This record gives sequence, C-alpha cells and structure tokens, in this order.
Amino acid sequence: MSDWIRHPLLARQAHGFGTIGCEAPRGLVRVKQVHGRVVLRATRASDAPLGEADAIVSDVPGLPIGVVTADCIPVLIATPSGAVAAVHAGWRGLAAGVLEASVDALGRIAHDTADAVAVIGPHIGARCYEVDAPVVSALTLRFGDAVDAALRATRPGHCEIELARLAALDLSRAGFASERIAVVEDACTACDPVRFHSYRRDGPASGRLFHYIAVTDDGRQSS
Ligand SMILES: [Zn+2]
Repeated sequence: MSDWIRHPLLARQAHGFGTIGCEAPRGLVRVKQVHGRVVLRATRASDAPLGEADAIVSDVPGLPIGVVTADCIPVLIATPSGAVAAVHAGWRGLAAGVLEASVDALGRIAHDTADAVAVIGPHIGARCYEVDAPVVSALTLRFGDAVDAALRATRPGHCEIELARLAALDLSRAGFASERIAVVEDACTACDPVRFHSYRRDGPASGRLFHYIAVTDDGRQSS
C-alpha cells in the first residue's frame, strides 16, 4: 500500500503526506535538510536541492515543494491567495524556530498569512519518543514553561515528548487560530511499520517519507 494522506484543510491545493512506497512527485523541489531554521523560496523546478534549509515556500502554480522525514514532523501550510510552505521540524528545528521562520518567509510572498492553514503530518508520537534532559533544555529555551505541557516524565532524566503540541504552539504564536491548525491523527511513524518509515524504530538505514504541496490554479483565490 502506498497511499498519500491528504487533509481537508488543504483541499484546495495539491498535497500529500507520503507513506511507504509513495514516490516524489515529478519536479519536486527539495532542500538539503540540516535541522535548522533556514527557509528557501522555490521559483522553478530543480533537480538539485536548492541549498541547506529545512523549509521551502513558493507561490508558483503547479510547482511541488517538499520535505522528507522519518519521525520528525512535516508541516504543510497554505494561504488562500495561493502561497505554500513545506517544513521539516524535529526537536532541533522546533528549538531553532523553523516554524516561525517559515511563517515569516510566507509573509514575504503572501499578504494573507493571517488566513493560512497548517497541517501537521505523520510523525513519532509521544508514547514512542522518549528524550533526555538536553533535548528538554533546548526546547525550554524556545518555549519556556509551555514546554511542560508537552512532556510526561518516564524514568529519571527522561520524558516522553509530544512534538505536535510544540509545533501547534509555535503556529499559534505565529498567528494561526486553533481551527486553522490540524494534526493528522493515528499516524505515529514508529508504531506503524506498514505505512511509515521511522528512524527511531529502524535506525540509520531507515527510509524516508516524502511530503509535498503545490499551488493549484483552483487554489489561487482572487483577491
Ligand atoms: Zn508510536
């Protein structure tokens, strides 16, 4: 089985969160992901990665942009006027502020980010994602006490962490109302070896999942 997971919030744009076997759409624009907060703008199809970055924005109809993951969070964002973003956000990216940077970059090519929608795709769920103190410290630097709500203590010096809660928090701080943020449900990458690759489960040899979004002509609301 290799079906793209689609979400109604993004119904006006071509998009998909990949499962095992989904191949990159033709002409997919990608970046060399480095767990940072750099965002690049795609203006044309490119076989080579645009550069080192963890998010891409575009307003070019028909041009798919995307990220790959294996446990980290993929976030796809679209504005009503037809600007889109694809973001790769693991704990390092969240701590670095990659979502804030992505919304900022989107705001430089679109006037309507206040009406944008964001969908948080399949990623490693809290019950499968135990982290240690340095990870919590890095996230606390960015999120402050709010990080506590995403944590559940396990054994000394460790806790489970709900990355999606922090991603949603970053989006809400960037101006997204709660009804404009969605999470793909029942999609823990580590729990489901039939549908998803998982770095934590499979190690360095793990495959990667593609996720993409492209502006459609239909998705460009006149304004
Ligand atoms: Zn799980």
